[in-house]
Amino acid sequence: MPLRDIIGQPRAVERLLVALRRHRLAHGYLFAGAEGTGRERAALALAQAVLCERQIDGDACGECGACRRVAAQTHPDLQLVLSEAELVRRGIGKPEGSARPSIEIRVEAVRELCRRLHLRTYEGAGRVGIVVGAHRLRVEAANALLKTLEEPAADTLLILIAPNPRAVLDTLRSRCQIVRFVPLVASVIAELLMTQHGVERVAARAAAERAEGSLARALELCQGDVGERIAAGRDYWAAAAAGHAGMLLDLAAELGRDRERALAHVDELARMIRGELRRAAQDGHRIRIDALARAHGAIVEADAAIRGNTQPQLALEALAFRLQPLLTWEPAAATAAFPDDRS
Ligand SMILES: [Zn+2]
Repeated sequence: MPLRDIIGQPRAVERLLVALRRHRLAHGYLFAGAEGTGRERAALALAQAVLCERQIDGDACGECGACRRVAAQTHPDLQLVLSEAELVRRGIGKPEGSARPSIEIRVEAVRELCRRLHLRTYEGAGRVGIVVGAHRLRVEAANALLKTLEEPAADTLLILIAPNPRAVLDTLRSRCQIVRFVPLVASVIAELLMTQHGVERVAARAAAERAEGSLARALELCQGDVGERIAAGRDYWAAAAAGHAGMLLDLAAELGRDRERALAHVDELARMIRGELRRAAQDGHRIRIDALARAHGAIVEADAAIRGNTQPQLALEALAFRLQPLLTWEPAAATAAFPDDRS
């Protein structure tokens, strides 16, 4: 996909296109932003623009042999480096032995990348290396990359991808140009879900609104049942607001039977609380902000408990008892429920 076709990141795309047109591309870039904001697609698009045989105004044509090989990730002058865990997650690698796949990028993989970046190009246009998850580079691996960034071979481009610049070691970050990827707006996510992933409109909109700017997150939500999540979240909220403890316990029993469902429910509640927090902040409603912030804390703890060893139903029940007084919008009740932690 050429850069011009990347949706939702106009500033990042324009900056790269300008550099391409002026032949002023840096040797090292750090694409920083949350997962699902298009960082990797943009990195591949930039690789395509560099390696394309018939560039159009600096950008890739999207159709030549080189463009197609980049899109299929089979171009000999393009190399992606990922952690073993990421390879397994994408179904392109198998875990070695019974050990958990490592989330760190192996130093050998980085050394191989650097070696190849210094070789002559196969097709003559240049060489591109992409490191997905550059925040997973340990010092040794980072040092290997550093040499390549400090003394880049001609026509090489190295793109590091990370959730934020601070997550990457200083030595690497300072030698890269940082391109920021902002959270995608919900309408863009909904559009992408419908046009590129065949999700129907209602589900696409519901998932987009809950995805917090990440297409990857939206796709995850679409795999679960978004409708069920929303309904359960609303029921829970209504029961809490009405002070209906029995109903909350029923919901905890129902949703707590399955760990994934319990986690999805907790996630939905957290999202609802964040929405309420934004509204309360706009209204300057301090007591409500205080109660909501504590409700959010309780949800984060429930999430950690469920991910740990706590039985999901127990965690949801405990959460119900903590949330209920906080969500009734009775400041007195909120205060009385937590007399000790208001200091
Ligand atoms: Zn092309």
